[in-house]
Amino acid sequence: MSEHSPLGASGAARWLACPPSYGLIQRTGAEGSESEHAALGTAAHKLADMCLESGKDAWEYIGQTINGYEVGSDPQTQIEPDAVQVYLDYVRPLAEASEISASELRLGQKWKPHPLYGGTADFVSVRQDCIEIVDYKHGAGLRVDPFENAQLRYYAIGAFKELAQHLPDDAIVKMTIVQPRFSGFRGPETFVETVGELRVWSRDVMVPGMLAAEAFAELGYATPGAYPDAVDYQTGEHCRFCPAILDCPKQKADFAAMTQGDADKMTDAELDEMFPKIATVKMYMRAVEGRIQARLMEGVAFKEVKLVKKRAAGRTWKDGVEAELAAALGDDAYNKDLKSPPQIEKLSKKWKDFVAENAFLPESTGYNLALASDSAPAANPSADIATQFAHY
Ligand code: SF4
Repeated sequence: MSEHSPLGASGAARWLACPPSYGLIQRTGAEGSESEHAALGTAAHKLADMCLESGKDAWEYIGQTINGYEVGSDPQTQIEPDAVQVYLDYVRPLAEASEISASELRLGQKWKPHPLYGGTADFVSVRQDCIEIVDYKHGAGLRVDPFENAQLRYYAIGAFKELAQHLPDDAIVKMTIVQPRFSGFRGPETFVETVGELRVWSRDVMVPGMLAAEAFAELGYATPGAYPDAVDYQTGEHCRFCPAILDCPKQKADFAAMTQGDADKMTDAELDEMFPKIATVKMYMRAVEGRIQARLMEGVAFKEVKLVKKRAAGRTWKDGVEAELAAALGDDAYNKDLKSPPQIEKLSKKWKDFVAENAFLPESTGYNLALASDSAPAANPSADIATQFAHY
């Protein structure tokens, strides 16, 4: 999953769709440090790899700290063992059925079509006439679709070159995503194509894309005034995770067009032209919000906006309640998982009283932006951290 190349797999959908983004990121230094979410995901990957190495299940690491994150049940701040276990339960049978398998396979050792090609594939299984790469996604917010996914293809061609060059062109390539924390998760999802099709993609799309990205960057470095302008950038869904979005000439131009235009007087043709820009301008505005939040978190005070504590998602059970519920209600204590406090309190007055005694609203984690006039009190992250330390 991890790679640090600026032309690596995780950004492939972006730099293939918008080759100048690579140079823009290099020029502005926007590719900063790993976000908190990404760091938690990296730690979850590490736990998965440790489990595959040791033969243990994820829950056996509860309480241990990996890359600075404890294995536990808080989805915001801890590595959830249940999520990692879903991935383990998928790849372990694959490993047993494989002629060759590898966890955290380093790419670009035997085949490097460009100096910046590289990365690490989470799990690779080579079986007769088939290679499968499995990518674990720890993110919960947006579903990652495996269909014609550039990141997966980037991993797959590299894994094929490392471990499976004996497979013929009509052999099957399976590219699977396991994203258990996504609320709509129904099981691993797989995109399938042949080795021949994957080879053509790498030859006709991936490698030319890397060269195009590099060419735009060199153009910009050599002659700053001639750096590609807005017309060379391509906006789209891939902008969502572009680290240079706030510096992007195309985003700025679209934002200006939208905010300075007179929508009331637009023709149908102009409205039609405006619509595709709305989605990407929303991404730009979210990035502006992210910048504001980062400054407030650093302690800068603004007049119009403040931080407020996020509302806790809902009540949760106190420790040890599950055994009591299971003993009293048996299977009725569960749907797939243990029923939530609101589900249990609907059973009867007796259970409503039980919930009042045995459930609690956890402390909220994280902050939101709000107008200064909002009735919620302004949060002070520095004071919160000091309070947490005072508990130790
Ligand atoms: S934000 Fe700009 S530079 Fe980044 S991918 Fe989108 S169009 Fe390209």
